[in-house]
Amino acid sequence: MPPPSSPWHHLRKRVHLICFAIFLILPFFNIVRFDIPHQRFYFAGQEIWINEFAIVFFTMMFLMFLIVVSSIFYGRVYCGYLCPQMIFSEASMALQAQLRRRVTKKFAQWKPAKRERLASTLFYSILAVASVGLAFIFIAYFVEPRDLLRSLARLDIQTAAGIAGASVTLLTFLDFAFVRLNFCTTVCPYGYLQGMLGDGKTLLVHYRDETHECIECKKCVRVCPMGIDIRDSPFQIECVHCAECIDACDEVLARLKKPGLIHYAWGEKGPLSAGTKQPWDAKRVIILAVLFCYASALLVAMSMRHSVLVQVAPVRTSTTFRLGADGRVYNQFRYSISNRGGRPAEVVFSIHQLPGATLALSPNPIPVKPGATITGEFEISSGGRSAAVSHFTIVSSTVPDQVEDTIPMTFLAPEGK
Ligand code: SF4
Ligand code: SF4
Repeated sequence: MPPPSSPWHHLRKRVHLICFAIFLILPFFNIVRFDIPHQRFYFAGQEIWINEFAIVFFTMMFLMFLIVVSSIFYGRVYCGYLCPQMIFSEASMALQAQLRRRVTKKFAQWKPAKRERLASTLFYSILAVASVGLAFIFIAYFVEPRDLLRSLARLDIQTAAGIAGASVTLLTFLDFAFVRLNFCTTVCPYGYLQGMLGDGKTLLVHYRDETHECIECKKCVRVCPMGIDIRDSPFQIECVHCAECIDACDEVLARLKKPGLIHYAWGEKGPLSAGTKQPWDAKRVIILAVLFCYASALLVAMSMRHSVLVQVAPVRTSTTFRLGADGRVYNQFRYSISNRGGRPAEVVFSIHQLPGATLALSPNPIPVKPGATITGEFEISSGGRSAAVSHFTIVSSTVPDQVEDTIPMTFLAPEGK
């Protein structure tokens, strides 16, 4: 149990709660979801199709870049404050400890082994139910939640989605029952990465005792969730910068009316973070400038994106043109319209810079439902004398977006016609 004051502990728990709420909300309001069955990526309410992979890729890269930048500035703040593995592992350990305490208090007359059996049964039962919920939320990042709920209601373990759901539930249970923070030191590469990203001004947790005030109580070691002694080095790969040792040392030495010996500091030799601002240098300014440019470019790309994608191509498989009984020359074209937005749209086609030509297309405007892709063909005919190759444009106007696309095209006719 952390001491009652423990400012860092309480701050971290508040941040964990906020992160949990965000983790819960994101997939249910299309803020972030990589919908694998429908091949869609939802980001900030925008529905991005898989054929717009560049935006998906650069958005992912931006999020990665954000974590890297936070590591250069603030060390492993992501591990201690924001990482889901850390948040749920600590919650699982806290629940287990709480159940043990309550069972011990309520059944003090029982033998310890019997109390432990009851506490363990309660813990694993609660964790099993929680694992179903957590797995559901996790899979909702990849599958539409309503489809997922239907699979869960049917207790489906035969289809790929059902098997994936059952597997994730089992892995979640095993992870938070047994693996927990061992994941951070055995599987996760982030700790090793941090060793390469940090520099002399990166925030870290540091033990400083120039005047030999340490009373060797080892409370900082006992509270450490990673089981290390921060006094050995501030660069231990296991240290997730959670600051539990800072709270513990502050609390112990406060009883002797002395300040604590463990602090957040800007680098091994830098000033303590309390009362000092983030140190700046050219490297940090450049990193922030790059981050700003990247975010701006991403925003511009998102805002310039059209929710209705119109594509037109000539059909020139067996013949390039057709001579009609009416003496006109006909060229055939194929269109594809994808409505990637959330509301119905209509697309009107018109032709420009081809005098005397007519467009045979019905209906025109073409209605397209949200999420639908429709394809079709139309002909353009020309009756006047035209060159063998005439360059013209097809214009597609989308309602209600009021977006016009100009598509350069060629019209082919026999020589001298
Ligand atoms: S809690 Fe503080 S005083 Fe106690 S052993 Fe750790 S550093 Fe020393
Ligand atoms: S050494 Fe301190 S900051 Fe690092 S993991 Fe342990 S308790 Fe957290």
